[in-house]
Amino acid sequence: MTSGNTERFIDLRSDTVTRPTAWMWEAMQTASLGDDTLEGDPTVRALEHLAAVMTGKEEAMFVVSGTMGNLIASLCHATRGGEAVIDAQAHMAKSEAGGMSRLAHLFPVLIPSVRGEMDLDQLAGALRPGFSRYGQPTAMVGVESTHNHSGGYVPSLAYLADVHALALRASVPVHMDGARIFNAAAALSVDVAQIAAHCESLTFCLSKGLSAPMGAMLAGSHAMIEQARTFRRMTGGGLRQAGIMAAAGKVALETMVTRLAEDNRRAQRLWTGLAAIDPQLVDAVPSNSNIVRLRVAEQRERNPKAWEAALAKHGVLARASGTATLRLVTHRHIGDDDIEETIAAVASIRDAFAASAAPLGGL
Ligand SMILES: *Cc1c(COP(=O)(O)O)cnc(C)c1O
Repeated sequence: MTSGNTERFIDLRSDTVTRPTAWMWEAMQTASLGDDTLEGDPTVRALEHLAAVMTGKEEAMFVVSGTMGNLIASLCHATRGGEAVIDAQAHMAKSEAGGMSRLAHLFPVLIPSVRGEMDLDQLAGALRPGFSRYGQPTAMVGVESTHNHSGGYVPSLAYLADVHALALRASVPVHMDGARIFNAAAALSVDVAQIAAHCESLTFCLSKGLSAPMGAMLAGSHAMIEQARTFRRMTGGGLRQAGIMAAAGKVALETMVTRLAEDNRRAQRLWTGLAAIDPQLVDAVPSNSNIVRLRVAEQRERNPKAWEAALAKHGVLARASGTATLRLVTHRHIGDDDIEETIAAVASIRDAFAASAAPLGGL
């Protein structure tokens, strides 16, 4: 792995490992360019227009990463500091280095969630429309779709509508971390705009299943995105000939959206195959998107790290996440055969673990 050459592996660590397509390379080479911090880059502008149309928002802005998009949204919504009501398993809460609190000065109020959906009673109780003797107002409510740390679950439209209604009643904007929102749209058989209708702002990644080499989009109202451009500059995201990357992102939106249903389907097949080995190996309900969690750690020696190593010996790369699970993510470079090989590898590792009292030596 130190060589960085992982191409001969079945790489299920993340959909971020996807390489640019031939059309992307070509678009990158032939893109019309400008200085995006001076007069503006025409290819970036075209991508931003397309993203706004697809999400049904007034405007969109190209950013370096999903994390940067979420941070800038937090900065925009945190007009007077305040609280961010967000689920305890949210990527923004767990995996973005605390930017929401450390840089946007939002105090996170964490709500428990099940399969990516927060408890609505607790959410309603946590919303504060204004200052009180003891508290500061809620600046933002966060939702996430698909929901990464729960294992790729897709919050229902009804749930998103409920959250939005509660937030609007308290005059609080909803920000959606939609890193994999196109996988969610495929799973729900709706347009992304129908999901995005339930938030004031959203971030989505171009660099995951959509296969662009880098980049994400932040979408929202004209007023918000105007402010967001200042915050992008402030956070070091003022790019120059960004059209080279935007060109790949534009091809991603034009050509890579519909195929995500395939990734979702292969993940369902993976879930079914693993469940057939042992139902305890997977979550009770499949996620409907492109993430499957493998539940391990019956014993200390057979923990996620041990499984990660054992799978690598079978040519399968997966990532340990937490103390009891590994995360497997399907994407464009994973075919049907790779799924069957992965299922077979899990079956054989499980047998080897079961047969051997000596934990790792026999593998
Ligand atoms: C990947 C991801 C992000 C962050 O994206 P980066 O581009 O890696 O910064 C944010 N939220 C969720 C849910 C993600 O899965």
